[in-house]
Amino acid sequence: MVRRGLDRWVAGRRIAEVEVLHPRAIRRHIAGSQDFRTRLAGQSVLGASRRGKYLWLPLDGGGALLGHLGMSGQLLVQPSDAADETHLRVRVRFADDGPQLRFVDQRTFGGLSLEAMKDGLPLPISHIARDPMDPEFDDATFIRALRAKQTAVKRALLDQNLISGVGNIYADESLWRARLHYDKPSSSLTRPRAAALLAEVRAVLDEALAQGGTSFDSLYVDVNGESGYFARSLNAYGREDQPCGRCGTPIRRSPFMNRSSYYCPKCQRR
Ligand SMILES: [Zn+2]
Repeated sequence: MVRRGLDRWVAGRRIAEVEVLHPRAIRRHIAGSQDFRTRLAGQSVLGASRRGKYLWLPLDGGGALLGHLGMSGQLLVQPSDAADETHLRVRVRFADDGPQLRFVDQRTFGGLSLEAMKDGLPLPISHIARDPMDPEFDDATFIRALRAKQTAVKRALLDQNLISGVGNIYADESLWRARLHYDKPSSSLTRPRAAALLAEVRAVLDEALAQGGTSFDSLYVDVNGESGYFARSLNAYGREDQPCGRCGTPIRRSPFMNRSSYYCPKCQRR
């Protein structure tokens, strides 16, 4: 998915220098800025991998540069002479003087760190589940875990231990398509309904990826994945008081985990 875009720009390149413009962006690297910069310099990037809101670059030294995107973080590949972004936090210069890797984060909830690898994953994220577009995502395991959980179905969709890659927008859109209320207990879903929900999650992600073509093709790599989802294709999210595309009932908005849930009160009954 988005990973492919980044992979193409960074694989095989040697890091010359790392500049930390905001210490908060590397607060997860406990040894500090100097150690972070020293250890990265001279290492070659082997590729780019992604799981949920985490993205990492395996390095020839055996570790990986891990990016936690948080709410607003982005990893951009920019020409070396491009002006600095307002919220540029970390800049990686390569030995070839080509395009730079830049970590930009308005709210600085995210950050970068250098991590050891275990079983092909950076240590801190070994618990994060695969995303449903991953060929190795196991449908049966997910459906079983979803139905075994004592939680609301939307909370389950946002739970990265269960499934990754589903943000607030995608969750609302998938639930609308599956005609499920966000607060419905996940344990009350029958196996076919859980399978149908997973199919709708995939359909939404598929569509979002198809529309967010810029993520693949341009230098701009939005690892968040959601900004490419154009408003015109949304059925529920952000459509408070507008008619439901199925039944015409005004879409309702309810507070949910410091955010909002959008749903049709008629098609999606609790
Ligand atoms: Zn409706």
